[in-house]
Amino acid sequence: MSGATILHADLDAFYASVEQLLDPRLRGRPIAVGGSARGGVVLAASYEAKAYGVVGGMPGWRAARLCPSLLFVPGRFREYQPLADRVMDVLGDVTPAVERISIDEAFLDVAGSTHLFGTPAQIATLLRRRVRDEIGLPISVGAARTKHLAKIASQVAKPDGLVVVEPDAERAFLEPLPVGLMWGVGPVARARLAERGITTIGELARTPSSAVEQILGRAVGARMSALSHNEDPRQVAGAGRARSVGAQSALGRQRATRELVREVLSHLADRVAGRLRAKDRAGRTVTVRVRFPGMRSVTRSLTLPGPVATTLTLTEVAEQLVWQAIREQPRAEPEVSLLAVSVSGLVPQSSLQLELPLATDDPRHPGSAPGAARWAVDRSVDAVRARFGNGAVGYLPTAMPRVRTVPEEFRRLAEHDL
Ligand SMILES: [Mg+2]
Repeated sequence: MSGATILHADLDAFYASVEQLLDPRLRGRPIAVGGSARGGVVLAASYEAKAYGVVGGMPGWRAARLCPSLLFVPGRFREYQPLADRVMDVLGDVTPAVERISIDEAFLDVAGSTHLFGTPAQIATLLRRRVRDEIGLPISVGAARTKHLAKIASQVAKPDGLVVVEPDAERAFLEPLPVGLMWGVGPVARARLAERGITTIGELARTPSSAVEQILGRAVGARMSALSHNEDPRQVAGAGRARSVGAQSALGRQRATRELVREVLSHLADRVAGRLRAKDRAGRTVTVRVRFPGMRSVTRSLTLPGPVATTLTLTEVAEQLVWQAIREQPRAEPEVSLLAVSVSGLVPQSSLQLELPLATDDPRHPGSAPGAARWAVDRSVDAVRARFGNGAVGYLPTAMPRVRTVPEEFRRLAEHDL
């Protein structure tokens, strides 16, 4: 993949931005989360405070001296995680390959999403707008061919910006930047390099690796030298083999009726279970995601007594979980905008055959009579489809889907592969 398809998305001054989001009186003003003018440590500073030189990790008294109008707020820590999770949900809408590296930043591999959502720059623009509109937080994005470059690009983009490094501009982009922007170069390394006259990434690239290894130590030196030469083979985790199989369906905005939910879930379960069986896999944990119009997204999971790969059983479990999530909503007749089903905790299907015949009627056990019957039905369905195509046969709502609001390729994209 040669394009700038790795994105690094990083919320700007996250803790401080959340405080400004929750208390409008703090917006546009220099604030520090944590610490006080008398002591303690500033954990995060708003951009208005950063303009005065206030940074996270600084003693409160020093911050107050640099910025006399600085407002200290204690920080509402319970608010941070759920807001950051919602941001990650938005990122996950364009690709299953999202690697979260801290509460407020993640790498995304969008190589498989460009035919649906446009260029990496357009995808980044879409994500930035959605995070701003739906959650109310500023987020900067860097796009490049490697993780290292994407992370540097997002730092350069701050605050509230987007920087795309096209492959033919990489060296020119890195050349003048300070070494401190490199991932892994802290204040100590920066000072050591500066003693040897190395302050930019370009200068680091022109220093022989052996010399850099002497300055920074062997392992770190070799790594920094390679990065300065723009060598970074690391992939976004989740871009490779998935540990779950899932499918989702965006619905626009529809009332959550029994019929709609059953129809969409049968369709999704059919796709997920079909792919599990095609790969000789089954999984114990069923997860559903329900998104309500606006922004709220709710996830519910259930771990079953045994692994499941039958369409009907997966549909029933998913239905149960989705209604749990819907019933918790304050509105009597809520609307939904997306349903997703995934199965994780995967095991080879051969392990199912080890289950002895059971005296239970629970169809979730492959060893029970109804469980075995469902397996048999699915096997026939799979066999017919293999010969005559997917539309040839299926459970009723699956064979005749009315809900077709999403192009087929979007579905395929949203389904991570084994
Ligand atoms: Mg951040």
